[in-house]
Amino acid sequence: REVVLSLRDASQIYKVRKKAGFGGVNLVRAVRNVTFDVRRGDSFAIVGESGCGKSTLMRLLCRLELPSSGQILCSDQDIAALKGKGLLAFRGRLQMVLQDPFGSLPPRTSIGKILEDPLRTHRWRDKVRIRERVLKVMGEVGLPAELYEELPLGLSAGQRQRVNVARALVLEPEILIMDETLSALDQAEQFKLIDLFQKLQKEYDLTYIFISHDLAMVRKACNRVAVMYLGEVFELADNERLFFDPGHPYTKALLSAMPTLEQRRYRPEECLLEGEPPSPLDIPDGCSFRSRCPQAMNKCSRVQPSLTVRERQDFAACHLIVPPAASGDTGAAHRT
Ligand code: SF4
Ligand code: MG
Repeated sequence: REVVLSLRDASQIYKVRKKAGFGGVNLVRAVRNVTFDVRRGDSFAIVGESGCGKSTLMRLLCRLELPSSGQILCSDQDIAALKGKGLLAFRGRLQMVLQDPFGSLPPRTSIGKILEDPLRTHRWRDKVRIRERVLKVMGEVGLPAELYEELPLGLSAGQRQRVNVARALVLEPEILIMDETLSALDQAEQFKLIDLFQKLQKEYDLTYIFISHDLAMVRKACNRVAVMYLGEVFELADNERLFFDPGHPYTKALLSAMPTLEQRRYRPEECLLEGEPPSPLDIPDGCSFRSRCPQAMNKCSRVQPSLTVRERQDFAACHLIVPPAASGDTGAAHRT
């Protein structure tokens, strides 16, 4: 499948003024040398604890910020270079749905008007066509046509989130970025929306990027997962591999906190996560996980591990990872 979005060594560093009297600036390294590809039809998850850089990464992907170094390519085009019509077209191709189903809709604007808005911005003029398009999308996301003239006020959280999804879909984007889109909903409603996303994915040939801390949702909805910690990608793998046989001690720790009936290929009780992540103002040398890692070795304080292939499309950034070629087998041991 073709690569639709690609990060090449993307970093984002913020300068934060030090407290009065100290002078100078602190550097917050919010996203650090992130490289991955998102392919057409992926449901790609970016997971991690709060403060791991996933929201910054989302802003970079949506081009709300430009990276301080590295590149983000959309169909081989550096999105930093876009302007004018090219930028408008990119904004049409990639849409986002935000977390908060209550704050994200203007309270005094009717649902129909809210959904017409992106079309007008993208120079749709014909009123009849606009209305047809909006009604079509409303039907697709399960909003009854009667809601056209209604205000968001009377809607349930689930319905509001459907309005947000419809607003993102109305321009027929290729990529939808979901920032904690389901986290305010109860589980029954989450499952309904995941089913809806899967249906829409087929109809619209969509690619999803889910930004989430909810591993159960990711397990259900995503085919590929990037695990982030202190701005860095620690593990990048297909869903099955990540949940059954994670390579990075941090991923194991995250998963061990997740209730499951499924068999795992590691012992969750050996990977409990202790303490808090270090401040992004003060990232340790070597492996940035070493202050919390139960398996840390001497080397980990000196050498920063880079993403290493485990098997085909699965990577982890840890010195314990042995690439298949170096281990002398072809991964047969992993398959038992
Ligand atoms: Fe732990 Fe070392 Fe691996 Fe980092 S590189 S996760 S400290 S074993
Ligand atoms: Mg965040």
